[in-house]
Amino acid sequence: MAKIFCIANQKGGVGKTTTTVNLAAGLAQLGQRVLVVDLDPQGNATMGSGIDKRKLETTVYDVLLESASIAEAKARSEKAGYDVLGANRELAGAEVELVELERREARLKGALAEAAKDYDFVLIDCPPSLSMLTLNGLCSAHGVIVPMQCEYFALEGLTDLVNTIKQIHANLNHDLQIIGLLRVMFDPRITLQQQVSDQLKAHFNDKVFDTVIPRNVRLAEAPSYGLPGVVFDPSSKGAQAFVDFAREMVKRIETMR
Ligand code: ADP
Ligand code: MG
Repeated sequence: MAKIFCIANQKGGVGKTTTTVNLAAGLAQLGQRVLVVDLDPQGNATMGSGIDKRKLETTVYDVLLESASIAEAKARSEKAGYDVLGANRELAGAEVELVELERREARLKGALAEAAKDYDFVLIDCPPSLSMLTLNGLCSAHGVIVPMQCEYFALEGLTDLVNTIKQIHANLNHDLQIIGLLRVMFDPRITLQQQVSDQLKAHFNDKVFDTVIPRNVRLAEAPSYGLPGVVFDPSSKGAQAFVDFAREMVKRIETMR
């Protein structure tokens, strides 16, 4: 049975999608069976996995509205070695349509219950908001991975996310926990980043992943080739860090079982 993780942070541009596709590719290289669920109508995780969102006939939208199963709606990223439940602009409408429906926050959870046997890991790329879509992600997951840049305001945003996760844990999903905070786009030469990193460790202890993802231009270039950085340039520092992170995640779930 798959372990299911949301990659979430209500801020935009913090590295959620980069973390999702590169962790997925890293895990695939370690022989894990992985499904990426793109819950962002921008479809960046879909495109970044080499799947053209404009050509998809079925997406996560159909799964949320229960007109397709995950097995029917998924696509395969051959080069990256994992499956993708894709998204495109159509998903933006789901937000409104779901409000009318029963069990609106548990639609993805229901679909994943069926698909989980086919995978070791499900990674859900969340949009930059605490919306109905993100709620569907958080209700489905065993845990949350929070990518964050070590900047001053990062800590402030974290408090809101931690409170939301606590509420969902109490009311909707008793499994949900923060698995860890992942320091991304890290530049050790910047004193402030080092200081924020130290504060994070002092405050959150072992909830901070050991692996640190450096700022690395190859990770930023990879999406325009429809590839995760791990596949695009395996020898780059960024790719190597994500493979290390995949190893760290495999170890973490052993302690979760
Ligand atoms: P989000 O999904 O949270 O909005 P993205 O993963 O799309 O964030 O990242 C935002 C931007 O930063 C993208 O252009 C991405 O290529 C770039 N980026 C992400 N991580 C790194 C990194 N470690 N080094 C360099 N650029 C990065
Ligand atoms: Mg994104």
